[in-house]
Parts: sequence; structure tokens; C-alpha cells
Amino acid sequence: MSIEANIEKIQKEIEQACERCGREPSEVTLVAVSKFHPWQAVCRAADAGVQVFGESRVQEAKLKISQCPPGIRWQLVGHLQSNKCRDAVQLFEMIQSVDSASLAEQLNKAAQRRSVSLPVLLEVNVAGEASKFGYSPQALLENLLNLNELSHLEIHGLMAIPPWTPQPEKARRHFQKLADLKKQCEDILGAPLPVLSMGMSSDFAVAIEEGSTMIRVGTSIFGERKR
Ligand SMILES: *Cc1c(COP(=O)(O)O)cnc(C)c1O
Repeated sequence: MSIEANIEKIQKEIEQACERCGREPSEVTLVAVSKFHPWQAVCRAADAGVQVFGESRVQEAKLKISQCPPGIRWQLVGHLQSNKCRDAVQLFEMIQSVDSASLAEQLNKAAQRRSVSLPVLLEVNVAGEASKFGYSPQALLENLLNLNELSHLEIHGLMAIPPWTPQPEKARRHFQKLADLKKQCEDILGAPLPVLSMGMSSDFAVAIEEGSTMIRVGTSIFGERKR
């Protein structure tokens, strides 16, 4: 299927998932994850109505962003190395993958140097997988107030990548855990966190049922990635 048809299908599935749980489709932002796909694919998706794109590597994104027309919104969804913070702050409207205090501090410095306030999500390793980045739920709750003190970062919410499974239902408890964790963070901060970034190609409908406000979809839009 074409990129255009894929997007139309996903938008229908977003609407259906929202209908099942009494939510509005406008509450869910579709982030098209374009890593490993060329700038031409981004342009086609943008022409089909997608407004936000996700990339996982700064270097790849830097080239792609320079090739795409302006006006496209870019977010970082992959692990960020401290030495790329300066570029990242310049390229992305939001960093979804803040996974350590040292990274948060480096990003805060880079944002301060540019005199901007940088929206970020805190990444949570919901299933405690050794192969994944992100805060453990406990470390997140313990570090939250310190992170919130960084003057040039705006904490907008949480992001997680649960274990991959061909059965989306198996991801549900991880989504519930992240949604619950967001509530606990809101209690600690005494303020609402608007973003819950969860759900990918295989499981975004379940994620929406559990309260996701941002789904990150790659394969179902662009096809398989060639590495
Ligand atoms: C690659 C990636 C996605 C998209 O995954 P698909 O299964 O292709 O939809 C979403 N989130 C993150 C963090 C990713 O790295």
C-alpha cells in the first residue's frame, strides 16, 4: 500500500480506538517515525496530513531535516548522547527520550545557551529490560523534583517502549503502568502532564484505549526499515 493509504488507514484506526473508549481523535497526535526512510517519504507523509515526525538519530535527522521543506515538526525519539545535545536542541521541537539526569543537565545547558525552553518527555523502562534505556519507575519518582528544577527544560510527560510482542493485548499492562506513573508524577509536581507517548505500529490502538496522547508509528506508515 502507498504511504497515503497507510496514513488514511491509521487515522481510521485512531478514530475507532477513540470511539471504543470515549475519547476524541484530536487528543491523539500521530508521530510518523521516519528513521531509515528518505526525505522523500517524509514529504509524502507530510502532504498526506502528518504534521509531526520522529527520528532516532541526530546525525541522520540533521541531513534529512536539511533536505525537507521548512514547517515540518521534528521530535527525537531515540537515545541521545551528551555530545549531540547542542545539535538536538537546534533540530527538534521536543526530545522524547530523556533517560538520565546527566542527559537532562546537558540538554538544559544547551537550551540555556540558545535561550530557549525545551519541551521534553521522560523515558521510562516500564518492563525493566536490560537492553532498553529509560528510568525505572522508582528512579523516575525519586528524580522528578530535581529534573523539574532544570530551568530550561519543560517536562511535558512520559514516554515508553514496552517489550515488542506480536499480540498487542500483551502490551496493555505496560501502558496501564505508564498511565498510572504519569498520575503519580502529576501528584508529585502538583501540575498536569499533558503527554503520554506510547503505542507503535503493532499496538497503538491498545495504547489509545489506555490513554495515550501520542503514538509513534513507523512501519505501518513507511513499510519495513532497511538497515
Ligand atoms: C522505531 C521506533 C518507533 C516506530 O516503531 P514501528 O514499530 O516501526 O512503528 C516508535 N518509537 C520509537 C522510540 C522507535 O525507535
